[in-house]
Amino acid sequence: SITIFGSVNLDMTVSVQHLPVAGETSHAGSFQTGLGGKGANQAVAATRLATCPVKFVAAVGEDSFADKLRADLEAMTVDTSHLVTINGAESGIALIHVDESSQNSITVVGGANMVWPDEGPDADVFKGAKVALFQLETPLDATIAAMRKAKAAGATVILDPAPISEGHMDALIAQADIITPNETETAAITGTMPGNFLEAETLAKRLLAMGPKLAVVKLGAKGLAYASREEGSGHIDPYYVKAIDTVAAGDSFNGGLAAALAEGKSLLDALKFAAAAGALATTRRGAGEAVPSRAEVEALVAG
Ligand code: ADP
Repeated sequence: SITIFGSVNLDMTVSVQHLPVAGETSHAGSFQTGLGGKGANQAVAATRLATCPVKFVAAVGEDSFADKLRADLEAMTVDTSHLVTINGAESGIALIHVDESSQNSITVVGGANMVWPDEGPDADVFKGAKVALFQLETPLDATIAAMRKAKAAGATVILDPAPISEGHMDALIAQADIITPNETETAAITGTMPGNFLEAETLAKRLLAMGPKLAVVKLGAKGLAYASREEGSGHIDPYYVKAIDTVAAGDSFNGGLAAALAEGKSLLDALKFAAAAGALATTRRGAGEAVPSRAEVEALVAG
């Protein structure tokens, strides 16, 4: 099985002509709510793309948004039996403004996502997990503790170091078997922005020295580079798609990578499967809704 520990937010999106400035009251053309949070997006992706059971471990508040989040997750067939309700807390939300040129400005209130105790979730949630997936929208101490528990249960631990946090990066990366930073996260961790495949591959090798067995540098529309302790380094060309919205590309990539590794795909096949999932996510608007199906990913990989 696969266990995902992470955040779940209610995304509240308004479409405006221009992003609001101080003191301005603007009128929006539309308002939409949707399922969000990197943890939830990756849980949707893994659930849709994996051949094995997927557990999503996350926290919601004691409010009506919690019912909506639970219902939205269930509508996407995500197993909600490991969602915990934090008494007295509010559910995580994201307030999103999107302007006419698709620029956005986002405010996230972590709420229940940020009240995990330092020891993280119960070790039981990682029992039987072949792969466990983490991001950084949960408290750092709880996340490190959860990664340790996953490793002790025998899982391959994947860390998507997003959004990048100020301190603790070394300790987090040292606990991971696999890390999957994008370009800006790679720059924040290593001090160098990867320009091309060769530079990204060199930086992936540098990331390996921090502890993991595999480092994948995601390069958006340019594909990815990787370095593995046992299987050398290289890159994967991007799959050609008509991108309209890059939200959830990385989340689909990570869910796809977890799914592929859990079913025993080889390193290169797993990276291709994940890259195809990321590419297809950019062809649709939204977060959870943008995750492709397994059949679509397999068709794109087959070419
Ligand atoms: P993040 O969303 O974390 O910033 P990326 O944008 O790098 O992640 O996307 C993750 C992966 O998805 C990339 O490494 C690439 O393989 C694939 N991908 C993303 N955008 C595109 C695109 N426009 N065309 C083809 N593949 C893409």
